[in-house]
Amino acid sequence: MRLLLIGPPGSGKGTQAVHLAEHYGIAHISSGDLLRRHVAENTTIGRTVAARIHRGDLVPDSIVMDILRKPVEAATRDGGYILDGFPRTVEQAETAYRVAERLGAEVRIAVYLTAARPELIRRLLARGAQTGRTDDTEHVIGHRLDVFDNAATPLLDYYRKRETLITIDGDRPEAEVTQAAITHLDRARRDLGLPEHRRTPAPVAADDTKLTATVAMPGHPTPHAARSRQNTGGGPVPPQRPAGW
Ligand code: AMP
Repeated sequence: MRLLLIGPPGSGKGTQAVHLAEHYGIAHISSGDLLRRHVAENTTIGRTVAARIHRGDLVPDSIVMDILRKPVEAATRDGGYILDGFPRTVEQAETAYRVAERLGAEVRIAVYLTAARPELIRRLLARGAQTGRTDDTEHVIGHRLDVFDNAATPLLDYYRKRETLITIDGDRPEAEVTQAAITHLDRARRDLGLPEHRRTPAPVAADDTKLTATVAMPGHPTPHAARSRQNTGGGPVPPQRPAGW
C-alpha cells in the first residue's frame, strides 16, 4: 500500500502519518524529518539545505529525490509506505512518477489534510514554543503557508486526475481525523479492489466520519455522496496513468 499525505504545515501530517503507518503496517517516511536529520548531523546535504529550511523555502527537488530514493525503494519492497510532506510540487510528483515506473506503478492513494489558516498558525506557534523548531516562528510560518498555498492547487489537480484523492478535514480532534482517514482509505481500497492491508485492529468507528472527507477517483464511480467538490460540475475526469510514487 502506498499513500501520500499532502497538507499545509500544521495540518497534522506527521501525527496522522504515524497513526496510519501503524494501522496499516507500512513505513512512515517524512521528507522534512530526513532533511532535519541531515541538518542536525551537519552533513553536506544538511549544510546545503539548512538556510532554506530556516527561511521556510523549499529545498531543491534533486536533493529531496536523493534522500527519499533509498527509503522509498526499501519500503516498496517491504509492503508499502506513507510519504509525509512529499511531493510538494507538480515537478516533484512528475519526477517521482518517472522514478517509480521502474519499481512498478501500483495503485496509490493521496490524502489531503486541510485546516483553517488561523488554526494552522496556532498549532505551529504552540509546537515552536514546545520544540524550538526554528521554522515555527510567526514570520516563517506565514511564509511556509504561502509556499504551500502557491503549490497546492496544481499539485492537488495532478493527483485528482491521476489517482484517488481523499480530502480530510484536519481541523478536528486527532483521533477523529485518524478514524476518518482510515474509514475513507478502506472504502477507497475496496472500491479499487486492493487487498486488506491492516496490521492492527481498527479503532472504534466515529459515526460522523462521513462529514469529514471527500473522495475523488478518476475512472471509478464514487459509491457515496462525498465526491470531491472540485470534481463536480466539470464533467467526468478521464482516467490517466497512475502517478508513480
Ligand atoms: P515539513 O517537516 O514537511 O514541514 O518540512 C520542513 C521543511 O523541509 C520545509 O519547509 C522545506 O524547507 C523542507 N522540505 C520538506 N519536504 C520537502 C519537499 N518535499 N520538497 C522541498 N522541501 C521540503
